[in-house]
Amino acid sequence: MSGTRRILIVGGGTAGWLAAAYLAKALAVSPRGATEITLLESPDIGIVGVGEGTFPTIRATLKFLGIDEREFLRETSATFKQGIRFADWLHAPDGDTRHVYVHPFEAPFQTDVGSLAPYWLAQEPRTRAPFAEAVTIQSRVADAGRGPKSAMDGNFAGPLAYAYHFDAVKLAALLSRHAMGAGVTHIADVVTRVDIAPDGMIAGVATRDHGTLQADLYIDCTGFRAELIGRALGEPVKSVRNHLFTDRAITAKLPYPRARGPLASYTLATAHEAGWIWDIGLADAHGVGCVYSSAHIDEARASDILHAYLGMQPGDVPTRTLSFEPGYRDRQWIGNCVALGLAGGFLEPLEATGIVMIEAGVAMIAEMFTHDGPVAAPARRFNALMRARYDNVGTFLKLHYCLSRRREPFWRDNADPGTWPEPLADLLEQWRYRPPGRFDFTLDTETFAFFNYQYILYGMDFGTTAPRLNHVPHGEDADRQFARIRGFGERATLELPPHRDLIEQIRGGH
Ligand code: FAD
Repeated sequence: MSGTRRILIVGGGTAGWLAAAYLAKALAVSPRGATEITLLESPDIGIVGVGEGTFPTIRATLKFLGIDEREFLRETSATFKQGIRFADWLHAPDGDTRHVYVHPFEAPFQTDVGSLAPYWLAQEPRTRAPFAEAVTIQSRVADAGRGPKSAMDGNFAGPLAYAYHFDAVKLAALLSRHAMGAGVTHIADVVTRVDIAPDGMIAGVATRDHGTLQADLYIDCTGFRAELIGRALGEPVKSVRNHLFTDRAITAKLPYPRARGPLASYTLATAHEAGWIWDIGLADAHGVGCVYSSAHIDEARASDILHAYLGMQPGDVPTRTLSFEPGYRDRQWIGNCVALGLAGGFLEPLEATGIVMIEAGVAMIAEMFTHDGPVAAPARRFNALMRARYDNVGTFLKLHYCLSRRREPFWRDNADPGTWPEPLADLLEQWRYRPPGRFDFTLDTETFAFFNYQYILYGMDFGTTAPRLNHVPHGEDADRQFARIRGFGERATLELPPHRDLIEQIRGGH
């Protein structure tokens, strides 16, 4: 490679436009610059249009792109997400009795000497507060319908960690404006053929109306179609269906029963007999999706489950069914082609890890796509890091399922250790005697930290042996810390604004 570097991004969904905007900024695209970026997308094919929940990393990404939080909230119908509220994952509902727990984004408070988890474990199980409520103020704040910040806090800043829910179609439009403003060229056309050179590199991408486009690096963001990495280069999806069983989602978008009603500031994730339902509140509507395993129930049953959840009859609201193969491509970067987004892989919607993988991938491309150097070594490294990321996320997702005591076949299959990814059994064995800690993970390839595992484990009633009192020598400090957290939490629920008001204040600019 020499002279001007040309990058061709194929696909204009969240992956394509996020990559375009990010690389334009990171590689300083300009008319006389050393890098040119073109994004080609087919308006006829369109985008998948789901992917409304995000992870807190999105704030740093949007800030890096120079997007203003107010503009973002206004233009994408976004709301604040403080975590996920899980219902019915441990037990099926029994009359009015339901098991609920929260996975907040905020890390637990620490004592001066470390984690509060051992001290919480040493408390009386029947009377102690739920883990998330004991170690952070966030679940209390979100339960009270409050936002994670006040309108006076700065752009993307606030006292509590947060992410967003947003409309994916509107996000792509916002990102495209920013990318084009930063110098990205946009072509609306369809790929009709991908030419492969004798050395296995992509030689060009033929289009219907714009001839053949050539580049130094081709980024495949064509979603599940995977036109370059899959169809042209033949890299298969490595299925993880043996661990993660869901492979379908029936989705719907619904208006709120009343305008300006209270807004949840977490994703609601309600388990059902063969999967779970997401319920994501945007500013003007909520998106709902019934995720299920087609090996355990058929589409008609999944549709009944969704409609029962909505209190509606089939036909009352338009729905869409999406199929996916849970898995990822072993090699996501081959020669001069790298895949991002659904073209590279997708495990399932739980914990909203699709977009965070795109963020991780594009940040690596920005650093590893060297000007004149060979691409084979960065490609190997990229593939190793992305594989590790997918595997780690897979382990974390399985944890949500494998601790369930539900009796339906889907849940019994999930609880069968024969279906667990290899590291999980080993970790769970250790966590019977101590809580998850920072030495359990290699941080560069993790999306989730040890405390995310703690929230799921103890939300799901996992039994870590309570430490003997002489192993938790700072009990008084810890008790003081628990009391402070309770006090801060009570104050924060009074001081932070209701979630709906916060959004309106920020959007309205006052
Ligand atoms: P797409 O949005 O499908 O975009 C593909 C692009 O490629 C389009 O512009 C299309 O026109 C173009 N294209 C395709 N073929 C051609 C061609 N031949 N020529 C030209 N252009 C072409 N992620 C999260 O982070 N949070 C979530 O809550 C979440 N929920 C999900 C729920 C479901 C059911 C599914 C399936 C996914 C979910 N994801 C979620 C993943 C998320 O949707 C994706 O990571 C994200 O939308 C990125 O999609 P994409 O850009 O890769 O693909």
